[in-house]
Amino acid sequence: MPTIEEELERRSLLYSLLMPVMSQSVQGLEKGKGMYFLFIKSEAKTPGGLVARPVLTSYYKSSHFRERPYDPYTNYTSPNETILCPDSYQSMYSQMLCGLVQNKEVLRVGAVFASGFIRAIRFLEKHWTLLCRDIRTGTIDPQITDPSVREAVMRVLKPDPKLADFVEGECRKESWQGIITRLWPNTKYVDVIVTGTMSQYIPTLDYYSNGLPLVCTMYASSECYFGVNLNPLCKPSEVSYTLIPTMAYFEFLPVHRNNGTNSISVPKSLNDKEQQDLVDLVDVKLGQEYELVVTTYAGLYRYRVGDVLRVAGFKNKAPQFNFVCRKNVVLSIDSDKTDEVELQAAVKNAVNHLMPFGATLTEYTSYADTTTIPGHYVLYWELSLKGSTPIPPSVFEDCCLTLEESLNSVYRQGRVSDKSIGPLEMKIVESGTFDKLMDYAISLGASINQYKTPRCVKFAPIIELLNSRVVSNYFSPKCPKWIPGHKQWCNKN
Ligand code: AMP
Repeated sequence: MPTIEEELERRSLLYSLLMPVMSQSVQGLEKGKGMYFLFIKSEAKTPGGLVARPVLTSYYKSSHFRERPYDPYTNYTSPNETILCPDSYQSMYSQMLCGLVQNKEVLRVGAVFASGFIRAIRFLEKHWTLLCRDIRTGTIDPQITDPSVREAVMRVLKPDPKLADFVEGECRKESWQGIITRLWPNTKYVDVIVTGTMSQYIPTLDYYSNGLPLVCTMYASSECYFGVNLNPLCKPSEVSYTLIPTMAYFEFLPVHRNNGTNSISVPKSLNDKEQQDLVDLVDVKLGQEYELVVTTYAGLYRYRVGDVLRVAGFKNKAPQFNFVCRKNVVLSIDSDKTDEVELQAAVKNAVNHLMPFGATLTEYTSYADTTTIPGHYVLYWELSLKGSTPIPPSVFEDCCLTLEESLNSVYRQGRVSDKSIGPLEMKIVESGTFDKLMDYAISLGASINQYKTPRCVKFAPIIELLNSRVVSNYFSPKCPKWIPGHKQWCNKN
């Protein structure tokens, strides 16, 4: 994405709006610190000599972040050096250590996306013994070799055997339910994005935080920053973002979705008709869905961001939008097209079958397997098993069927009438598989802050990685229900 120096100021402006909004809902935040897990990624140069790096890396490396004047509202437990460390293990370790050492001062915790925060908790699950040893002795593990990180951590680290005993006692307990409120007892909320595909992490966050408010403060992208949530304590399902009209020139392409069939196409530049259909920010209609189109100061012209938004209401006259989905995530075997929202809803329905067994879905992704004839949908599920009752195969088969029943009419038609789609397959993968997937994406250049588990995978090495960790697989035992009347209607789309 092209960007320019002045864009950092615009982005800083949006950041500066977050805490004043937040303080209207939660008082006293200036009396303590935020424990945020923030990361940078190493940068590359384009052949023309420009720096290429993720947007957040640019921001954290900029003077806007590094040299921010003291402000009780941007007072973080992580010293800048730990955030700016390019080694993700050292960065995470040192940020966690500093967060633990200052546990009483922490009033809010977070990361950019929910997935990043959960990754931090998992890191703690794996490494708490080392961290406790460091807290006890006031020294840093030798694996942390970056001198600036060591120096910065030493400024906050003192031998504290009492705290080490406390952290060890909590981490040693079998259940990690409420671990956030146990280790950081003054935490008032968890600041992470849980809208869009991130919504599937809500149960895990609720579990770790004992139901603390989950706060989605902003909506942004590499192309440009968009807006803020003016009602941050609302339920995640009700979050809406108010676009800040000075961030870019915003236009909206109406989206028409019929009967669950997704008529959204793969991103491409706007054709003449679409250019004429564009609506200005002042003209959007309540309840209507739109694709977001931006013209940015950095030079993108009528650029399709790839997100679908729904007008949820107005603040005075400023429209507020629900994030509906990222549109280019689709599964398709034949004429069926399944978008992220449908898949998410189907997964949510299917997961109910696991509840009696104390199992929850940690992560999932999907794949349109066209190597079989006919092709079929494959869902990869990673489960967290808390109960001791084994889950019988018939329950997984029920999950498969519920998934199919929940998918759109064109899909079910393909299954029942056209036989163009084979039975849906579920592959259960071993614990930690999705962490490996993330590690893999990071090794290829993804940024930890901006990484989102892909809800659909196509890249052969990733599919290989997933398949190498399958512990069992199941197929839908019969065809889902389908009413023929839908066929012609769907053909019109
Ligand atoms: P990136 O450019 O990699 O930072 O990704 C930007 C994309 O992340 C956006 O276009 C959205 O699809 C997604 N995203 C960013 N903020 C939010 C949010 N608050 N809720 C849901 N999705 C978001």
